[in-house]
Amino acid sequence: MDYAALRKKMVEEQLILRQIKDQRVLEAFSKIERHRFVPEELKINAYADFPLPIGEWQTISQPYIVALMTEYLGLGGSEKILEIGTGSGYQTAILAELAKEVYTIERVETLAKKAQTIFDELGYTNVKIKISDGTLGWQEEAPFDRIIITAASPRIPLPLTEQLREGGKMILPLGESFSQILTLVEKKNGELKLTPVCGCVFVPLIGKYGCPK
Ligand code: SAH
Repeated sequence: MDYAALRKKMVEEQLILRQIKDQRVLEAFSKIERHRFVPEELKINAYADFPLPIGEWQTISQPYIVALMTEYLGLGGSEKILEIGTGSGYQTAILAELAKEVYTIERVETLAKKAQTIFDELGYTNVKIKISDGTLGWQEEAPFDRIIITAASPRIPLPLTEQLREGGKMILPLGESFSQILTLVEKKNGELKLTPVCGCVFVPLIGKYGCPK
């Protein structure tokens, strides 16, 4: 399988043609081997234009959605990021290429361990992973310049709004199961400004300040 060719095609057809413009984002997608993050039997579809199951009833998002969320974070390279929902670790790896440090939280232990193995193999020393309820955030490391939630919640978890730095940005799928609005949240003068981006479908954010179990 010529993964490099498939990756190039993914970047051109799924990202550039759909107006992903941030060159650093496009470079990260060109570099990171997405097939490493999907189960063996699905590697053939690793660069396809849809989400894929990664086990434990969870999914790795469609490449375009990962790119869109990343682009909205507006990363320059110096940021400290909190990610909720490590999943396969693919989005984490993209962020690790584009920012200074990534703190990522996953509630399912098997997924967190698999992701950690890949981060070690790829040599990401700027990623820290914790197995926990991400809706509580990561208090010891707060505040964060950026927060990204890759699971759907009917509300913005309160601890995360507190752990976002003044002037910081957060992106998350806001809404009920099966249909949400990808939403950009900016903290300005202590207030949150919400901007809807587009409709999307994510697995639920399960936790104290998200969806009930
Ligand atoms: N960004 C991931 C997609 C993950 S799917 C990727 O690129 O593969 C959403 C993930 O959020 C799942 O792995 C799920 O287990 C996790 N999750 C759901 N609720 C959570 C919570 N409260 N804290 C941490 N992780 C959570």
